[in-house]
Amino acid sequence: MQELKAHLLDSYKQLVLALKNKRLTNSLIIGGDVALGSIDLALYFTKLYLCHENGDEPCNKCKSCVLFESASHPDFRVVLASSKEDCDKNLDIVNDIGYVEQAVQDNTTNKVIRIDSIRTINHYLYESAVLAHNKAAIIANAHLMQEGAANSLLKTFEEPPANTLIILQTNAQEKLIPTILSRAYKLNIKKPSYEMCYAFLKSYNIDDSRIVKAIGISGYNPNLALDIINLDNDKLIEQFITNFVLYIINPQSIDKENKCIQLLLDLEPKVRDLFLNEFIVQILKYKVQFSLDNLCLLDEQNVKVLYKIKKDKLFKAYSYINENLLDDSQLLLKLQETRLRELLHLFKEVV
Ligand SMILES: [Zn+2]
Repeated sequence: MQELKAHLLDSYKQLVLALKNKRLTNSLIIGGDVALGSIDLALYFTKLYLCHENGDEPCNKCKSCVLFESASHPDFRVVLASSKEDCDKNLDIVNDIGYVEQAVQDNTTNKVIRIDSIRTINHYLYESAVLAHNKAAIIANAHLMQEGAANSLLKTFEEPPANTLIILQTNAQEKLIPTILSRAYKLNIKKPSYEMCYAFLKSYNIDDSRIVKAIGISGYNPNLALDIINLDNDKLIEQFITNFVLYIINPQSIDKENKCIQLLLDLEPKVRDLFLNEFIVQILKYKVQFSLDNLCLLDEQNVKVLYKIKKDKLFKAYSYINENLLDDSQLLLKLQETRLRELLHLFKEVV
C-alpha cells in the first residue's frame, strides 16, 4: 500500500502514541470520509499493529508485513457492507487491501453489514493468531451495520480477546449505537489545510486554476478534489455556471434550463451537492463585499449577472439544497431531475 498522505500523519502519530502508551483499548473508531483517507489510515495503522518489529512505522520486511501486502495475512480481516450476491461470493469478509480500498469507495447503496458477517468475524477474533502475534479486524463503513450486527459485535467489544484490535471506520459516527461508541478509542480525521491540498494536487502536475477550483468545491478534501479533476467535473461546473448566467438573463428559455439540468445530472451526486452549496454561498459572500480573489467559482464576467440575484432567493435556494438534495445518490434519476428543476425555478424572475 502507498505511504500515508501528509494530512493523515498527525492522526497516525496520535494513534501510534496511544498504542505505545497503552491508552488504546482493543477497539478504535476512525471517523472521517473515505475520500479524506479514513480507510487508508485504518489499513496503515493495522499493518503497524500486526508488524513483528516494534517501530513507529510498518517495517515492510517481516512476515506479517509481507503477507499483509499480498492479501494473504491469516490474522487480518476486513468486513465490508455487502449485497446478497457479494455474500454468496464471500466478498463480505476479505483481507485483500487493494479490494478493500476499491470496495469502500464504491457506492454502498442497498448494501449493509450483515449479522452473519459479524458473527463470522467474532469467531475469527477468538481463535488464536496463526502467526502467534496480534490479530486485527476492520469494519469498513461501520455505520451500515444492521441493529442485529451491532448487537452481535457488542459482545466482542465487552470481552475483547487479548492482543486484538477492532477498528470501526465510518463517516457517520452518530449512527453507531451508544454502547459501541462509549467503549472505543475515537479519532476523527481533521481536514487538511489549503497548503496541504495544494501540494498534494500539484504533485499530479495539475494546472493552478483547476487546483484552486477543485479545492474550493471539495471543501478542502484532497482526494475528492483529485476525483473532481480526473472526472472533469470542474469543467462541467464551469459550463454550468456559464449556462446558469444565461438562464438568469433569460429564465424563460427552456433550452438553457434543460442544459443546466443536464450538466448538473452529469456531475457526481456528491460533487453536485457540494458545488451547489458552495456556489450559492459564494454569491452571497460576494454580495456582502467578499473579494473575488477568495471566491473560486466567480469571476469579473459572471458576477455582473449573478450579483443581481436577490438575497432572499439565494437563502431559499440554500435551504432547498440542504433539505432536498444532500446525499441524493440513492434517488431515482427522474426524481433528481424534478428536484433540480424546482431548484432552478427558484431563480425565475429574480433579476
Ligand atoms: Zn513488519
